[in-house]
Amino acid sequence: MSKTARCPDCRGEVRLVGRMLIGEVFGCAHCGAQIEVAGSDPLELEPFARVEEEEEDFV
Ligand SMILES: [Zn+2]
Repeated sequence: MSKTARCPDCRGEVRLVGRMLIGEVFGCAHCGAQIEVAGSDPLELEPFARVEEEEEDFV
């Protein structure tokens, strides 16, 4: 089973094959952007935000 969705970056159509787990990151076939699965039903995609080391939010 496959679903299609829009890349949040280039709006290109990306096909997702198999089960997409929330938090999974994959590359867009069109622009190469890293996309994170934010929700599975309905399918939601977000640009993957790389965690920079400068973010030091220690409590
Ligand atoms: Zn893209």
